[in-house]
Amino acid sequence: MSKVADSKLLGEFQLIQRVQTRQSSVADDRVIVGIGDDCAVLAQGSREKYLMVTTDMLVDGVHFTSLYSSFRQIGQKAMLVNISDIAAMGGSPTFAFLSLALPASLGMEQFDALTEGIIKTAKEYSISILGGDTNAASPCPCFFADSLADFSAKQAQVKAHGLVINITLLGEVAVSELITRKGAKPDDLILVTGQLGDSAAGLDLLRTLNGVTADKISLDHHFDYHQDTYQQVILRHQVPVVRLAEARLISQHHLATAMIDLSDGLAGDIRHICQQGGVGAMLWPDKIPVSETVKEIAGAMEKPSLSYALSGGEDYELLFTVSPEKAGQVRELVEQTGTRVSIIGRIAEKKKGICLVDADGQTIPLFEYGFNHFIPCNS
Ligand code: ADP
Ligand code: MG
Repeated sequence: MSKVADSKLLGEFQLIQRVQTRQSSVADDRVIVGIGDDCAVLAQGSREKYLMVTTDMLVDGVHFTSLYSSFRQIGQKAMLVNISDIAAMGGSPTFAFLSLALPASLGMEQFDALTEGIIKTAKEYSISILGGDTNAASPCPCFFADSLADFSAKQAQVKAHGLVINITLLGEVAVSELITRKGAKPDDLILVTGQLGDSAAGLDLLRTLNGVTADKISLDHHFDYHQDTYQQVILRHQVPVVRLAEARLISQHHLATAMIDLSDGLAGDIRHICQQGGVGAMLWPDKIPVSETVKEIAGAMEKPSLSYALSGGEDYELLFTVSPEKAGQVRELVEQTGTRVSIIGRIAEKKKGICLVDADGQTIPLFEYGFNHFIPCNS
């Protein structure tokens, strides 16, 4: 019998599509947005606000390891990645449900630190936890363990082996303020908040620190991990920054034609906007905001300087499209929050595909895919 993990052709998105196509189409006019966006969106009778629902699961060894993050940070991240999905559609989070699969080895102190991270983050965003589910986890082989033999031994000793955290988050958005992945039009400009690639570069630093990518890093490159700039990218991996205030400004001022949060990398996530909108995209590589620190880390890891931004994932920045005449306004408005906004490309007709266009006008098809849980990085 074939297994999902055996097929290198079958990615996360194809698996989701298999579910979607096997379900007969949803004929319920309360469903405003179903499978395929950052949240499901439901109409609530005559209310002027839509109900939003999103759910994200963090799995030990796939999304985190307690070797790289504290339990408190793991809890914070579990809540933040859900808030980011509500933000991506222009809404505000409201209520959460917390489900946990707990390994027998997890200590009470660690459980408390994990849940404190979740609860503290919920409070910061005025979210109340209203329920959930708690189960025992069965320990399972870890994906990270393939990388280095002694790492698997280390991983087996960590207390979170098999931990699964699933949060379902509800939110609300005024009917007129909803932004979906669909709606980008040819000539719209493509914008992004913040800087890209920090989280993936931070993860690579954490790996080298633990000896996992020792074979890939240039031997003459020695990182001083305690340096502030490195600590910052590591922190971006451990505790993402979500752009809720920025997203609310964009939605309240009706400035975006489409929006998504960058969880899988720019190359993967621009594809969702293009597929949903029936359009293509021209990205300008020299405009993609990548810090000097991230470029330096990429160089040391012998990766192209844009690889973290394009296919690294977990930046949780906003990627959105805006009609050209509104681009200046949205930039000025969002930058009042202190968050930088960059114009990184232009939406094109579908037949143009998704390409990188360099400063000399040379066009390269964008083949790199975003982070894919079912395709090993070294395939
Ligand atoms: P995000 O990265 O924004 O959290 P995902 O890539 O996880 O989004 O999911 C994309 C879409 O697919 C969402 O609408 C999500 O609800 C849906 N989805 C993901 N997994 C499943 C599943 N197993 N069954 C049904 N829908 C799913
Ligand atoms: Mg998302």
